[in-house]
Amino acid sequence: MNSYDVAIIGSGPGGYVAAIRCAQLGMKTAIIEKYSVLGGTCLNVGCIPSKALLDSSHHYEDAIKHFAEHGIEIPGDVKVNIEQMIARKQSVVDQTTSGIDFLMKKNNIDVYEGLGSFKDATHITISGKETTEIEAKKTIIATGSKPSNLPFIKIDKERVITSTEALKLKEIPKHLIVIGGGVIGLELGQVYRRLGSEVTIIEYMDRIIPTMDSGLSKELNKVFKKAKFTMNVSHKVKSVERQGDEVIVKADNKKGEEVIIKGDYCLVSVGRRPYTDGLNAEAAGVKLNDRGQVEVNEHLQTTAKNIYAVGDVIKGAMLAHKASEEGVLVAEILAGQKPHIDYNLIPGVVYTWPEVASVGKTEEQLQEAGVDYKAGQFPMRALGRSRASMDLDGFVKVLADKKTDEILGVHMIGARAADMIAEAVVAMEYRASAEDVSRMSHAHPTFTEAIKEAALAATDDRALHF
Ligand code: FAD
Ligand code: NAD
Repeated sequence: MNSYDVAIIGSGPGGYVAAIRCAQLGMKTAIIEKYSVLGGTCLNVGCIPSKALLDSSHHYEDAIKHFAEHGIEIPGDVKVNIEQMIARKQSVVDQTTSGIDFLMKKNNIDVYEGLGSFKDATHITISGKETTEIEAKKTIIATGSKPSNLPFIKIDKERVITSTEALKLKEIPKHLIVIGGGVIGLELGQVYRRLGSEVTIIEYMDRIIPTMDSGLSKELNKVFKKAKFTMNVSHKVKSVERQGDEVIVKADNKKGEEVIIKGDYCLVSVGRRPYTDGLNAEAAGVKLNDRGQVEVNEHLQTTAKNIYAVGDVIKGAMLAHKASEEGVLVAEILAGQKPHIDYNLIPGVVYTWPEVASVGKTEEQLQEAGVDYKAGQFPMRALGRSRASMDLDGFVKVLADKKTDEILGVHMIGARAADMIAEAVVAMEYRASAEDVSRMSHAHPTFTEAIKEAALAATDDRALHF
Protein backbone atom coordinates (compact mmCIF):
# COMPACT_ATOMS: atom_id res chain seq x y z
CA MET A 1 0.00 0.00 0.00
CA ASN A 2 1.34 3.45 -0.90
CA SER A 3 1.75 5.82 2.04
CA TYR A 4 1.69 9.61 1.89
CA ASP A 5 2.29 12.57 4.17
CA VAL A 6 -0.85 14.08 2.72
CA ALA A 7 -3.68 12.97 0.46
CA ILE A 8 -6.08 15.41 -1.14
CA ILE A 9 -9.54 14.34 -2.21
CA GLY A 10 -10.78 16.45 -5.12
CA SER A 11 -8.78 18.26 -7.79
CA GLY A 12 -10.62 21.59 -8.13
CA PRO A 13 -8.89 24.92 -7.37
CA GLY A 14 -8.98 24.04 -3.66
CA GLY A 15 -7.50 20.57 -4.05
CA TYR A 16 -4.95 20.97 -6.82
CA VAL A 17 -3.52 24.18 -5.34
CA ALA A 18 -3.30 22.53 -1.90
CA ALA A 19 -1.45 19.62 -3.54
CA ILE A 20 1.10 21.89 -5.22
CA ARG A 21 1.77 23.85 -2.02
CA CYS A 22 2.10 20.63 0.02
CA ALA A 23 4.59 19.28 -2.52
CA GLN A 24 6.51 22.58 -2.54
CA LEU A 25 6.80 22.28 1.23
CA GLY A 26 8.37 18.84 0.93
CA MET A 27 5.40 16.58 1.69
CA LYS A 28 4.87 13.32 -0.19
CA THR A 29 1.54 14.14 -1.79
CA ALA A 30 -1.29 12.27 -3.52
CA ILE A 31 -4.39 13.71 -5.16
CA ILE A 32 -7.55 11.71 -5.80
CA GLU A 33 -10.08 12.74 -8.44
CA LYS A 34 -13.16 10.76 -9.38
CA TYR A 35 -13.23 12.08 -12.96
CA SER A 36 -10.55 11.33 -15.52
CA VAL A 37 -9.88 15.06 -15.97
CA LEU A 38 -8.37 17.21 -13.22
CA GLY A 39 -9.48 20.75 -12.38
CA GLY A 40 -12.88 20.28 -10.72
CA THR A 41 -15.92 22.43 -11.30
CA CYS A 42 -13.96 25.60 -11.97
CA LEU A 43 -11.89 24.37 -14.89
CA ASN A 44 -14.35 21.90 -16.41
CA VAL A 45 -17.87 23.25 -15.90
CA GLY A 46 -17.47 26.54 -14.06
CA CYS A 47 -15.23 29.59 -14.17
CA ILE A 48 -13.24 28.84 -17.33
CA PRO A 49 -15.92 27.56 -19.75
CA SER A 50 -18.40 30.24 -18.64
CA LYS A 51 -15.84 32.97 -19.25
CA ALA A 52 -14.96 31.46 -22.64
CA LEU A 53 -18.62 31.67 -23.70
CA LEU A 54 -18.98 35.16 -22.24
CA ASP A 55 -16.01 36.26 -24.33
CA SER A 56 -17.28 34.63 -27.54
CA SER A 57 -20.78 36.02 -27.15
CA HIS A 58 -19.35 39.46 -26.36
CA HIS A 59 -17.43 39.42 -29.67
CA TYR A 60 -20.64 38.52 -31.49
CA GLU A 61 -22.59 41.28 -29.80
CA ASP A 62 -19.89 43.81 -30.65
CA ALA A 63 -19.92 42.66 -34.26
CA ILE A 64 -23.68 43.03 -34.69
CA LYS A 65 -24.27 46.06 -32.49
CA HIS A 66 -21.14 48.17 -32.26
CA PHE A 67 -18.81 47.56 -35.19
CA ALA A 68 -20.75 49.80 -37.58
CA GLU A 69 -20.46 52.75 -35.20
CA HIS A 70 -16.70 52.19 -35.07
CA GLY A 71 -16.62 52.34 -38.86
CA ILE A 72 -16.18 48.62 -39.33
CA GLU A 73 -18.43 47.18 -41.98
CA ILE A 74 -18.99 43.48 -42.42
CA PRO A 75 -20.31 42.51 -45.83
CA GLY A 76 -23.15 40.00 -45.45
CA ASP A 77 -24.71 38.67 -42.27
CA VAL A 78 -22.81 37.92 -39.10
CA LYS A 79 -23.88 34.49 -37.91
CA VAL A 80 -23.33 32.41 -34.81
CA ASN A 81 -21.93 28.93 -35.24
CA ILE A 82 -22.90 27.54 -31.86
CA GLU A 83 -21.11 24.24 -32.50
CA GLN A 84 -17.83 26.07 -33.10
CA MET A 85 -18.41 28.36 -30.13
CA ILE A 86 -18.89 25.36 -27.82
CA ALA A 87 -15.92 23.57 -29.43
CA ARG A 88 -13.64 26.57 -28.81
CA LYS A 89 -14.83 26.69 -25.22
CA GLN A 90 -13.96 23.01 -24.86
CA SER A 91 -10.50 23.52 -26.32
CA VAL A 92 -9.88 26.29 -23.77
CA VAL A 93 -10.99 23.87 -21.03
CA ASP A 94 -8.79 21.09 -22.41
CA GLN A 95 -5.71 23.32 -22.54
CA THR A 96 -6.35 24.49 -18.99
CA THR A 97 -6.93 21.04 -17.50
CA SER A 98 -3.89 19.60 -19.25
CA GLY A 99 -1.94 22.39 -17.57
CA ILE A 100 -2.95 20.84 -14.23
CA ASP A 101 -1.66 17.43 -15.37
CA PHE A 102 1.66 19.13 -16.13
CA LEU A 103 1.74 20.83 -12.72
CA MET A 104 1.04 17.55 -10.91
CA LYS A 105 3.94 15.87 -12.77
CA LYS A 106 6.25 18.82 -12.24
CA ASN A 107 5.64 18.69 -8.49
CA ASN A 108 5.89 14.87 -8.24
CA ILE A 109 2.32 14.54 -7.03
CA ASP A 110 0.78 11.09 -7.45
CA VAL A 111 -2.61 11.31 -9.17
CA TYR A 112 -5.26 8.63 -8.48
CA GLU A 113 -8.38 8.43 -10.62
CA GLY A 114 -11.45 7.19 -8.76
CA LEU A 115 -13.89 7.99 -5.98
CA GLY A 116 -12.06 8.58 -2.71
CA SER A 117 -13.80 7.09 0.29
CA PHE A 118 -12.57 7.04 3.90
CA LYS A 119 -11.99 3.58 5.35
CA ASP A 120 -10.85 5.23 8.55
CA ALA A 121 -9.03 8.46 9.45
CA THR A 122 -5.76 7.39 7.82
CA HIS A 123 -6.86 5.06 5.01
CA ILE A 124 -8.67 5.95 1.81
CA THR A 125 -10.18 3.50 -0.63
CA ILE A 126 -10.10 4.67 -4.25
CA SER A 127 -12.71 3.10 -6.50
CA GLY A 128 -11.88 3.71 -10.12
CA LYS A 129 -11.15 1.26 -12.93
CA GLU A 130 -9.53 -0.75 -10.15
CA THR A 131 -9.88 -0.43 -6.41
CA THR A 132 -6.81 0.77 -4.53
CA GLU A 133 -6.15 1.75 -0.97
CA ILE A 134 -3.67 4.34 0.22
CA GLU A 135 -2.50 5.46 3.61
CA ALA A 136 -2.24 9.16 4.46
CA LYS A 137 -1.03 10.79 7.67
CA LYS A 138 -3.08 13.87 6.82
CA THR A 139 -5.95 14.37 4.39
CA ILE A 140 -7.46 17.48 2.87
CA ILE A 141 -11.06 17.17 1.74
CA ALA A 142 -11.66 19.37 -1.32
CA THR A 143 -14.70 17.68 -2.84
CA GLY A 144 -16.44 20.91 -3.86
CA SER A 145 -20.07 21.39 -4.72
CA LYS A 146 -22.88 20.46 -7.12
CA PRO A 147 -25.87 22.50 -8.35
CA SER A 148 -28.75 22.83 -5.88
CA ASN A 149 -32.31 22.33 -6.96
CA LEU A 150 -35.78 23.15 -5.71
CA PRO A 151 -37.62 20.09 -4.38
CA PHE A 152 -40.39 20.22 -6.98
CA ILE A 153 -38.16 20.61 -10.06
CA LYS A 154 -37.02 17.66 -12.12
CA ILE A 155 -33.74 18.51 -13.84
CA ASP A 156 -33.89 16.43 -17.03
CA LYS A 157 -30.59 17.87 -18.34
CA GLU A 158 -32.21 18.45 -21.76
CA ARG A 159 -34.70 21.29 -21.36
CA VAL A 160 -34.64 21.80 -17.62
CA ILE A 161 -30.94 22.25 -17.07
CA THR A 162 -28.17 23.34 -14.72
CA SER A 163 -25.12 25.41 -15.59
CA THR A 164 -23.29 22.23 -16.65
CA GLU A 165 -25.69 21.63 -19.55
CA ALA A 166 -26.03 25.36 -20.31
CA LEU A 167 -22.32 25.36 -21.14
CA LYS A 168 -22.78 22.85 -23.96
CA LEU A 169 -26.14 23.47 -25.60
CA LYS A 170 -26.42 22.35 -29.21
CA GLU A 171 -28.77 25.17 -30.18
CA ILE A 172 -29.51 28.71 -29.12
CA PRO A 173 -32.68 28.72 -27.00
CA LYS A 174 -35.58 30.73 -28.37
CA HIS A 175 -36.65 31.60 -24.86
CA LEU A 176 -34.43 30.76 -21.91
CA ILE A 177 -36.12 30.98 -18.53
CA VAL A 178 -33.57 31.44 -15.75
CA ILE A 179 -34.58 30.61 -12.18
CA GLY A 180 -32.24 32.50 -9.84
CA GLY A 181 -30.87 35.97 -10.54
CA GLY A 182 -27.49 35.24 -8.95
CA VAL A 183 -24.08 34.95 -10.53
CA ILE A 184 -24.66 31.90 -12.74
CA GLY A 185 -28.10 33.00 -13.92
CA LEU A 186 -26.88 36.44 -14.95
CA GLU A 187 -23.61 35.33 -16.58
CA LEU A 188 -25.16 32.50 -18.60
CA GLY A 189 -28.34 34.48 -19.19
CA GLN A 190 -26.20 37.19 -20.77
CA VAL A 191 -24.39 34.66 -22.99
CA TYR A 192 -27.66 33.50 -24.54
CA ARG A 193 -29.29 36.95 -24.66
CA ARG A 194 -26.33 38.15 -26.71
CA LEU A 195 -26.72 35.18 -29.03
CA GLY A 196 -30.34 36.12 -29.64
CA SER A 197 -32.40 34.20 -27.05
CA GLU A 198 -35.25 35.88 -25.29
CA VAL A 199 -34.22 35.62 -21.63
CA THR A 200 -36.47 35.83 -18.58
CA ILE A 201 -34.88 36.02 -15.15
CA ILE A 202 -36.96 34.92 -12.16
CA GLU A 203 -35.52 35.89 -8.79
CA TYR A 204 -37.03 35.13 -5.40
CA MET A 205 -35.51 38.12 -3.60
CA ASP A 206 -36.45 41.73 -4.35
CA ARG A 207 -33.27 42.33 -6.36
CA ILE A 208 -30.79 40.46 -8.53
CA ILE A 209 -27.33 39.60 -7.08
CA PRO A 210 -28.97 40.11 -3.68
CA THR A 211 -25.85 39.52 -1.59
CA MET A 212 -23.91 42.34 -3.25
CA ASP A 213 -24.23 46.09 -2.56
CA SER A 214 -27.72 47.14 -3.61
CA GLY A 215 -26.35 49.96 -5.81
CA LEU A 216 -24.74 47.30 -8.00
CA SER A 217 -27.99 45.31 -8.27
CA LYS A 218 -29.85 48.44 -9.32
CA GLU A 219 -27.34 49.43 -12.01
CA LEU A 220 -27.04 45.89 -13.42
CA ASN A 221 -30.82 45.56 -13.45
CA LYS A 222 -31.00 48.78 -15.48
CA VAL A 223 -28.44 47.49 -17.98
CA PHE A 224 -30.20 44.14 -18.32
CA LYS A 225 -33.55 45.82 -18.86
CA LYS A 226 -31.98 48.01 -21.54
CA ALA A 227 -30.76 44.81 -23.19
CA LYS A 228 -34.38 43.59 -23.15
CA PHE A 229 -34.12 40.87 -20.56
CA THR A 230 -37.42 40.28 -18.77
CA MET A 231 -36.62 40.77 -15.11
CA ASN A 232 -38.99 39.25 -12.56
CA VAL A 233 -37.80 39.91 -9.02
CA SER A 234 -39.82 39.02 -5.88
CA HIS A 235 -41.22 36.00 -7.72
CA LYS A 236 -41.68 32.64 -6.02
CA VAL A 237 -41.45 29.77 -8.47
CA LYS A 238 -43.91 27.01 -7.62
CA SER A 239 -43.74 24.60 -10.54
CA VAL A 240 -41.65 23.75 -13.56
CA GLU A 241 -43.18 21.40 -16.04
CA ARG A 242 -41.92 20.07 -19.34
CA GLN A 243 -44.32 19.39 -22.18
CA GLY A 244 -42.44 18.13 -25.22
CA ASP A 245 -39.99 20.84 -26.19
CA GLU A 246 -41.73 23.44 -24.04
CA VAL A 247 -41.02 24.27 -20.42
CA ILE A 248 -43.77 25.94 -18.40
CA VAL A 249 -42.79 27.79 -15.24
CA LYS A 250 -45.40 29.00 -12.79
CA ALA A 251 -44.53 31.56 -10.12
CA ASP A 252 -46.32 33.87 -7.73
CA ASN A 253 -45.45 37.55 -7.99
CA LYS A 254 -45.21 40.00 -5.07
CA LYS A 255 -48.97 40.47 -5.03
CA GLY A 256 -49.55 36.72 -4.89
CA GLU A 257 -50.78 36.59 -8.49
CA GLU A 258 -49.82 33.62 -10.61
CA VAL A 259 -47.48 34.30 -13.50
CA ILE A 260 -47.03 31.66 -16.22
CA ILE A 261 -43.89 31.77 -18.34
CA LYS A 262 -43.31 29.48 -21.30
CA GLY A 263 -39.93 28.84 -22.86
CA ASP A 264 -37.95 26.14 -24.60
CA TYR A 265 -35.19 25.88 -21.94
CA CYS A 266 -35.14 26.52 -18.21
CA LEU A 267 -31.86 27.06 -16.39
CA VAL A 268 -32.08 26.35 -12.68
CA SER A 269 -29.39 28.42 -10.94
CA VAL A 270 -30.49 28.75 -7.34
CA GLY A 271 -27.11 28.08 -5.71
CA ARG A 272 -24.85 25.10 -5.15
CA ARG A 273 -24.64 22.52 -2.38
CA PRO A 274 -21.55 21.03 -0.76
CA TYR A 275 -20.68 17.65 -2.21
CA THR A 276 -19.70 14.74 0.04
CA ASP A 277 -21.52 11.82 -1.62
CA GLY A 278 -19.50 8.61 -1.39
CA LEU A 279 -16.84 10.19 0.83
CA ASN A 280 -17.86 8.11 3.84
CA ALA A 281 -16.82 11.01 6.08
CA GLU A 282 -18.25 9.46 9.24
CA ALA A 283 -15.83 6.50 9.00
CA ALA A 284 -13.02 9.00 9.58
CA GLY A 285 -14.84 10.88 12.34
CA VAL A 286 -15.49 13.88 10.08
CA LYS A 287 -18.77 15.62 10.94
CA LEU A 288 -20.98 17.53 8.55
CA ASN A 289 -23.11 20.47 9.73
CA ASP A 290 -26.84 20.82 9.15
CA ARG A 291 -26.19 22.45 5.74
CA GLY A 292 -24.21 19.40 4.61
CA GLN A 293 -20.90 21.28 4.79
CA VAL A 294 -17.83 19.67 6.33
CA GLU A 295 -17.53 21.29 9.73
CA VAL A 296 -14.17 23.01 10.29
CA ASN A 297 -12.56 25.20 12.95
CA GLU A 298 -10.61 28.42 12.26
CA HIS A 299 -7.63 26.35 11.06
CA LEU A 300 -9.93 24.50 8.62
CA GLN A 301 -9.43 21.35 10.67
CA THR A 302 -12.39 18.97 10.73
CA THR A 303 -13.65 17.05 13.73
CA ALA A 304 -10.96 14.45 12.90
CA LYS A 305 -7.71 16.13 13.90
CA ASN A 306 -5.58 14.86 10.99
CA ILE A 307 -8.19 15.82 8.38
CA TYR A 308 -8.75 19.31 6.98
CA ALA A 309 -11.23 20.68 4.43
CA VAL A 310 -11.21 23.58 1.98
CA GLY A 311 -13.29 25.25 -0.73
CA ASP A 312 -16.96 24.88 -1.62
CA VAL A 313 -17.43 21.89 0.70
CA ILE A 314 -16.98 24.11 3.77
CA LYS A 315 -18.63 27.36 4.90
CA GLY A 316 -18.05 30.66 3.13
CA ALA A 317 -18.21 32.04 -0.39
CA MET A 318 -18.21 29.44 -3.15
CA LEU A 319 -15.39 30.98 -5.15
CA ALA A 320 -12.37 29.44 -6.85
CA HIS A 321 -9.89 31.94 -5.40
CA LYS A 322 -11.29 31.41 -1.88
CA ALA A 323 -10.82 27.65 -2.33
CA SER A 324 -7.23 28.14 -3.53
CA GLU A 325 -6.32 30.48 -0.67
CA GLU A 326 -7.64 27.87 1.72
CA GLY A 327 -5.66 25.13 -0.01
CA VAL A 328 -2.46 27.12 0.50
CA LEU A 329 -3.41 27.94 4.09
CA VAL A 330 -3.91 24.30 5.05
CA ALA A 331 -0.70 23.17 3.32
CA GLU A 332 1.23 25.81 5.27
CA ILE A 333 -0.46 24.85 8.55
CA LEU A 334 0.55 21.23 7.91
CA ALA A 335 4.12 22.45 7.41
CA GLY A 336 4.05 24.18 10.81
CA GLN A 337 3.60 27.71 9.50
CA LYS A 338 1.06 30.27 10.74
CA PRO A 339 -0.76 31.55 7.64
CA HIS A 340 -3.86 33.74 7.68
CA ILE A 341 -6.75 34.58 5.36
CA ASP A 342 -8.75 37.79 5.72
CA TYR A 343 -12.13 36.60 4.44
CA ASN A 344 -13.40 40.18 4.37
CA LEU A 345 -10.91 40.87 1.57
CA ILE A 346 -11.87 38.07 -0.80
CA PRO A 347 -13.30 39.89 -3.81
CA GLY A 348 -16.50 38.83 -5.54
CA VAL A 349 -16.95 39.31 -9.27
CA VAL A 350 -19.80 38.84 -11.73
CA TYR A 351 -18.41 38.56 -15.26
CA THR A 352 -21.34 40.09 -17.08
CA TRP A 353 -20.69 43.21 -19.14
CA PRO A 354 -20.49 45.60 -17.47
CA GLU A 355 -18.56 43.55 -14.94
CA VAL A 356 -19.51 43.79 -11.29
CA ALA A 357 -16.90 43.56 -8.53
CA SER A 358 -16.85 44.05 -4.80
CA VAL A 359 -14.61 43.79 -1.80
CA GLY A 360 -15.19 44.51 1.88
CA LYS A 361 -18.43 45.64 3.42
CA THR A 362 -21.53 46.71 1.50
CA GLU A 363 -23.50 49.81 2.49
CA GLU A 364 -26.24 47.53 3.82
CA GLN A 365 -23.76 45.69 6.05
CA LEU A 366 -22.28 48.95 7.39
CA GLN A 367 -25.74 50.33 8.11
CA GLU A 368 -26.76 47.14 9.87
CA ALA A 369 -23.59 47.20 11.98
CA GLY A 370 -24.21 50.89 12.84
CA VAL A 371 -20.86 51.99 11.38
CA ASP A 372 -20.50 55.71 10.73
CA TYR A 373 -19.33 55.74 7.12
CA LYS A 374 -19.12 58.03 4.12
CA ALA A 375 -19.55 57.11 0.46
CA GLY A 376 -17.90 58.52 -2.65
CA GLN A 377 -19.23 57.50 -6.05
CA PHE A 378 -18.03 58.25 -9.55
CA PRO A 379 -19.85 57.36 -12.80
CA MET A 380 -17.90 55.54 -15.52
CA ARG A 381 -19.47 57.74 -18.18
CA ALA A 382 -17.46 60.73 -16.91
CA LEU A 383 -14.18 59.06 -17.96
CA GLY A 384 -12.47 59.72 -21.27
CA ARG A 385 -11.51 56.04 -21.44
CA SER A 386 -15.17 55.01 -21.19
CA ARG A 387 -16.18 57.33 -24.00
CA ALA A 388 -13.34 56.02 -26.20
CA SER A 389 -14.57 52.44 -25.85
CA MET A 390 -18.25 53.36 -25.47
CA ASP A 391 -18.49 51.51 -22.16
CA LEU A 392 -20.53 54.14 -20.37
CA ASP A 393 -22.53 52.14 -17.84
CA GLY A 394 -21.61 51.79 -14.20
CA PHE A 395 -19.80 53.49 -11.37
CA VAL A 396 -17.22 52.99 -8.64
CA LYS A 397 -18.24 53.47 -5.02
CA VAL A 398 -15.77 53.80 -2.18
CA LEU A 399 -17.05 53.41 1.38
CA ALA A 400 -14.81 54.76 4.13
CA ASP A 401 -14.96 55.21 7.88
CA LYS A 402 -16.27 58.68 8.59
CA LYS A 403 -13.73 59.40 11.32
CA THR A 404 -10.58 57.55 10.26
CA ASP A 405 -11.13 57.62 6.46
CA GLU A 406 -10.08 53.92 6.30
CA ILE A 407 -11.61 52.21 3.26
CA LEU A 408 -14.22 49.68 4.38
CA GLY A 409 -15.63 48.56 1.05
CA VAL A 410 -15.28 49.16 -2.68
CA HIS A 411 -18.09 48.29 -5.09
CA MET A 412 -17.87 48.77 -8.81
CA ILE A 413 -19.77 48.03 -11.96
CA GLY A 414 -18.26 48.85 -15.31
CA ALA A 415 -15.86 47.77 -18.00
CA ARG A 416 -12.98 45.68 -16.60
CA ALA A 417 -14.21 45.94 -13.00
CA ALA A 418 -13.10 42.31 -12.52
CA ASP A 419 -9.49 43.38 -12.98
CA MET A 420 -9.81 46.78 -11.32
CA ILE A 421 -11.03 45.34 -8.01
CA ALA A 422 -7.46 44.14 -7.34
CA GLU A 423 -6.46 47.74 -6.62
CA ALA A 424 -9.13 47.96 -3.92
CA VAL A 425 -7.99 44.65 -2.41
CA VAL A 426 -4.40 45.89 -2.20
CA ALA A 427 -5.51 49.21 -0.70
CA MET A 428 -7.66 47.51 1.92
CA GLU A 429 -5.03 44.86 2.69
CA TYR A 430 -2.70 47.74 3.63
CA ARG A 431 -5.56 49.53 5.41
CA ALA A 432 -5.36 52.55 3.12
CA SER A 433 -7.55 55.57 3.67
CA ALA A 434 -9.69 56.99 0.87
CA GLU A 435 -7.30 59.95 0.81
CA ASP A 436 -4.30 57.61 0.32
CA VAL A 437 -5.88 56.20 -2.84
CA SER A 438 -7.02 59.62 -4.02
CA ARG A 439 -3.42 60.88 -3.91
CA MET A 440 -1.99 58.00 -5.98
CA SER A 441 -1.33 58.60 -9.64
CA HIS A 442 -3.61 56.58 -11.92
CA ALA A 443 -2.65 56.31 -15.58
CA HIS A 444 -4.73 58.34 -17.98
CA PRO A 445 -6.87 57.38 -19.76
CA THR A 446 -7.83 54.23 -17.84
CA PHE A 447 -10.96 52.91 -16.18
CA THR A 448 -9.03 52.92 -12.89
CA GLU A 449 -9.29 56.70 -12.79
CA ALA A 450 -12.84 56.09 -11.54
CA ILE A 451 -11.36 54.52 -8.38
CA LYS A 452 -9.23 57.59 -7.74
CA GLU A 453 -12.20 59.88 -8.40
CA ALA A 454 -14.52 57.86 -6.13
CA ALA A 455 -11.82 57.98 -3.43
CA LEU A 456 -11.63 61.77 -3.89
CA ALA A 457 -15.40 61.95 -3.59
CA ALA A 458 -15.26 59.88 -0.39
CA THR A 459 -12.39 61.92 1.08
CA ASP A 460 -13.84 65.35 0.74
CA ASP A 461 -16.54 65.27 -1.90
CA ARG A 462 -14.00 66.64 -4.37
CA ALA A 463 -14.09 64.46 -7.45
CA LEU A 464 -12.31 66.38 -10.21
CA HIS A 465 -14.23 65.30 -13.28
CA PHE A 466 -17.82 65.10 -12.06
P1 FAD B 1 -14.57 21.83 -7.11
O1 FAD B 1 -14.01 22.71 -8.13
O2 FAD B 1 -16.03 21.55 -7.15
O3 FAD B 1 -13.77 20.47 -7.20
C1 FAD B 1 -14.09 19.37 -6.44
C2 FAD B 1 -13.55 18.13 -7.14
O4 FAD B 1 -13.64 17.04 -6.25
C3 FAD B 1 -14.34 17.73 -8.38
O5 FAD B 1 -13.49 17.54 -9.45
C4 FAD B 1 -15.02 16.43 -7.97
O6 FAD B 1 -15.17 15.52 -9.05
C5 FAD B 1 -14.03 15.88 -6.97
N1 FAD B 1 -14.61 14.95 -6.01
C6 FAD B 1 -15.72 15.10 -5.26
N2 FAD B 1 -15.89 14.06 -4.42
C7 FAD B 1 -14.86 13.21 -4.67
C8 FAD B 1 -14.46 11.98 -4.11
N3 FAD B 1 -15.13 11.41 -3.11
N4 FAD B 1 -13.35 11.39 -4.60
C9 FAD B 1 -12.63 11.98 -5.58
N5 FAD B 1 -12.94 13.16 -6.13
C10 FAD B 1 -14.04 13.77 -5.67
N6 FAD B 1 -15.79 30.89 -9.04
C11 FAD B 1 -15.00 31.97 -9.21
O7 FAD B 1 -14.23 32.31 -8.31
N7 FAD B 1 -15.00 32.67 -10.39
C12 FAD B 1 -15.83 32.33 -11.41
O8 FAD B 1 -15.82 32.99 -12.45
C13 FAD B 1 -16.69 31.22 -11.24
N8 FAD B 1 -17.52 30.86 -12.23
C14 FAD B 1 -18.32 29.76 -12.06
C15 FAD B 1 -19.19 29.41 -13.08
C16 FAD B 1 -20.01 28.32 -12.95
C17 FAD B 1 -20.95 27.95 -14.07
C18 FAD B 1 -19.95 27.54 -11.77
C19 FAD B 1 -20.80 26.31 -11.61
C20 FAD B 1 -19.09 27.87 -10.74
C21 FAD B 1 -18.28 29.00 -10.87
N9 FAD B 1 -17.41 29.40 -9.85
C22 FAD B 1 -16.63 30.50 -10.02
C23 FAD B 1 -17.34 28.68 -8.58
C24 FAD B 1 -16.09 27.75 -8.58
O9 FAD B 1 -16.17 26.88 -9.68
C25 FAD B 1 -16.01 26.98 -7.28
O10 FAD B 1 -16.05 27.88 -6.19
C26 FAD B 1 -14.72 26.19 -7.21
O11 FAD B 1 -14.63 25.28 -8.28
C27 FAD B 1 -14.62 25.44 -5.89
O12 FAD B 1 -13.44 24.72 -5.87
P2 FAD B 1 -13.28 23.39 -5.01
O13 FAD B 1 -11.88 22.95 -5.22
O14 FAD B 1 -13.74 23.63 -3.63
O15 FAD B 1 -14.29 22.35 -5.63
P1 NAD C 1 -26.15 32.38 -6.24
O1 NAD C 1 -26.26 32.15 -4.80
O2 NAD C 1 -25.20 33.38 -6.77
O3 NAD C 1 -27.57 32.81 -6.83
C1 NAD C 1 -28.72 32.06 -6.62
C2 NAD C 1 -29.88 33.01 -6.75
O4 NAD C 1 -31.06 32.24 -6.77
C3 NAD C 1 -29.99 33.99 -5.58
O5 NAD C 1 -30.15 35.28 -6.07
C4 NAD C 1 -31.22 33.50 -4.84
O6 NAD C 1 -31.92 34.52 -4.18
C5 NAD C 1 -32.03 32.89 -5.97
N1 NAD C 1 -32.99 31.89 -5.55
C6 NAD C 1 -32.85 30.96 -4.58
N2 NAD C 1 -33.97 30.22 -4.50
C7 NAD C 1 -34.82 30.69 -5.45
C8 NAD C 1 -36.12 30.34 -5.85
N3 NAD C 1 -36.80 29.36 -5.24
N4 NAD C 1 -36.69 31.03 -6.86
C9 NAD C 1 -36.02 32.04 -7.49
N5 NAD C 1 -34.79 32.41 -7.12
C10 NAD C 1 -34.18 31.74 -6.12
O7 NAD C 1 -25.93 30.94 -6.88
P2 NAD C 1 -25.60 30.51 -8.38
O8 NAD C 1 -25.77 31.64 -9.30
O9 NAD C 1 -26.35 29.26 -8.61
O10 NAD C 1 -24.06 30.17 -8.26
C11 NAD C 1 -23.62 29.15 -7.35
C12 NAD C 1 -22.30 29.48 -6.77
O11 NAD C 1 -21.30 29.47 -7.77
C13 NAD C 1 -22.31 30.84 -6.13
O12 NAD C 1 -22.00 30.68 -4.76
C14 NAD C 1 -21.25 31.60 -6.81
O13 NAD C 1 -20.38 32.23 -5.90
C15 NAD C 1 -20.47 30.59 -7.63
N6 NAD C 1 -20.24 31.23 -8.92
C16 NAD C 1 -19.37 32.27 -8.97
C17 NAD C 1 -19.17 32.95 -10.14
C18 NAD C 1 -18.23 34.09 -10.16
O14 NAD C 1 -17.45 34.23 -9.24
N7 NAD C 1 -18.26 34.93 -11.18
C19 NAD C 1 -19.84 32.57 -11.29
C20 NAD C 1 -20.74 31.53 -11.21
C21 NAD C 1 -20.92 30.86 -10.02
